[in-house]
Amino acid sequence: MTKFRAKLTFILIVLIGSSMLIAGIFMAKVLENSHVKSLQENMERELKVIASSGVWDYQGTESELFQFYTAQAHRLKEATNERMTYVRADGKVLGDSDQLPEQMDNHLNRPEIAAAIAGGIGYTTRYSDTLKEKMLYAAMPVKNPAKVTIGYIRISMSLEQVDQSIRSLWYFLISGLLLLFLVAGVVSYRIAKSITHPIEKMTKVAQQITNMNYESRVPTYQDDEIGQLGVAINRMSESLQGQMARIQENERRLQGVMENMMSGVMMIDRDERIMLLNPSAETILGFSSQELLGKKYNEAKQQFEFTKLIQECIELQEPISDEMMFYYPSERILDIHLSPIAHEDEEWSGVLIVLHDITAVRRLERMRSEFVANVSHELKTPIAAVKGFAETLLAGALNDKETAVSFLQIIFDESERLNRLIGDILELSKIESKRIPMHFSPVYLPEFLERSLSVLRKEAEKKHIELTMQVEEDMYIEADEDRLRQIIINLLSNGIAYTQEGGKVKLRVEPLDMNADGDYERLRLIVTDTGMGIPKKDLPRIFERFYRVDKARSRSSGGTGLGLSIVKHLVEMHKGTIRVESEVGIGTKFTIELPVIH
Ligand code: ADP
Repeated sequence: MTKFRAKLTFILIVLIGSSMLIAGIFMAKVLENSHVKSLQENMERELKVIASSGVWDYQGTESELFQFYTAQAHRLKEATNERMTYVRADGKVLGDSDQLPEQMDNHLNRPEIAAAIAGGIGYTTRYSDTLKEKMLYAAMPVKNPAKVTIGYIRISMSLEQVDQSIRSLWYFLISGLLLLFLVAGVVSYRIAKSITHPIEKMTKVAQQITNMNYESRVPTYQDDEIGQLGVAINRMSESLQGQMARIQENERRLQGVMENMMSGVMMIDRDERIMLLNPSAETILGFSSQELLGKKYNEAKQQFEFTKLIQECIELQEPISDEMMFYYPSERILDIHLSPIAHEDEEWSGVLIVLHDITAVRRLERMRSEFVANVSHELKTPIAAVKGFAETLLAGALNDKETAVSFLQIIFDESERLNRLIGDILELSKIESKRIPMHFSPVYLPEFLERSLSVLRKEAEKKHIELTMQVEEDMYIEADEDRLRQIIINLLSNGIAYTQEGGKVKLRVEPLDMNADGDYERLRLIVTDTGMGIPKKDLPRIFERFYRVDKARSRSSGGTGLGLSIVKHLVEMHKGTIRVESEVGIGTKFTIELPVIH
């Protein structure tokens, strides 16, 4: 039972009980009064009957009088069971049913006698010294025909009798009251329960709402104010449920955005503590959320300049953007945007920091500008040569036929080189911009490689280089045929170009990851030569654009420095890998691994 229900039950019991008690007491009093009144009326009637029986003319000595009236009194007591007293006009008691008159004092001063002297019949209720108990007295004067008082008769009865009946009245009343109390208790409990039960229900629902359980509802079967309160609570809980669902949905969405965005997001609250860090920010900064969340920004072991930038944003209360070099967890360039978060009601509530890793962008930009510089430089050399030799020819060398022919040959070679260079540059930019889609088709390798090799045969023969191929029958690969040919030709022509007269250049094809059925998922293409090789220090860079081990050597071979970088791109477009091993003076080995099926 709840406190409220107990209280309500108690109040109801007290209210019902006390009103019943008051009514009971009132009723008892009324009953008592009417009881006494009817007793008095009876006594009055008796007195009048006795008075009219007229025994007042008895004459004799005092003791004879005593004897007569005492006998008379006894007789009457026998008949009525009431004490009877005869008193003379002067107050002397002549006879009494319960006492000897000789021993009794003058009775004129008795209140009932005094009242009878004053006005007819006198009543009193008092303690009788003679009988040692509480009595109701009634006295009446007796008059002779001349209307002179000749004496008084007094009857009295024990009040024990009256009290008895009043007591039983009270017993009845009290037991009735007790019973009623019991009933009142049950009824009060019922009433209290009917009032408090819905309130208890509502309290329970409210508690469940506090515990984020928005499903529970108050049963509403009443149509009164409490019922309306229940309906209101249900509506509130419904609306809360809806709002909560919306908030959670928004939160989920926001969470999704935060977790999947490429930019790092970090938030600092009013107390300058880090309160949010998305996964990208974790990666960019190299710290986990656990390490940073809740920490003050200046105690989070961040790079000094970064910490200073945050401080600046807090102090200035203005958005700041900056680009900064970070050295942990690796060297990177970060683009940092800081903006103070301001709400309408508050001055500011924190700082929002957005981090972008722009290392790749910056590197690309650098590469672009380097590329432009390289291209210009590479173009300048043959153009300068063409211009120089043409000038010399114009200045008179034309007259010397032999010189003129050799100069013109140089001009022709240089413009040829220029042509190749521009062709390679265009090719590379096409590949890099990924404008041309791949056209995969099955390529039957023995035939395809034979055809590719035949393009280079003449060149190899010129240098007396042995050009050979080793490929098994039935070998197929799915590839972009033109591009695969370019890969092979580039590698083989490099091999021929950087191998001395009489050397060897070889192409070999091996299946990779072969299973028991003879199926293979990958192929290995190996191009080896017995040429001059590449120094160790240059190996990591030979796939870079325009990189040449030896400018003079490359130029004499007619190279542009773009061949290998084109090859690397094309291999990657086939989802393959390329690597190089080389030893100066012994030879070079390029190994390409390609998947068979795309
Ligand atoms: P190039 O057009 O100058 O040949 P590449 O990109 O094809 O440019 O090659 C880059 C450099 O790598 C060349 O300048 C050359 O020095 C070196 N190189 C390439 N292939 C070989 C090879 N088979 N043997 C020795 N050096 C090679």
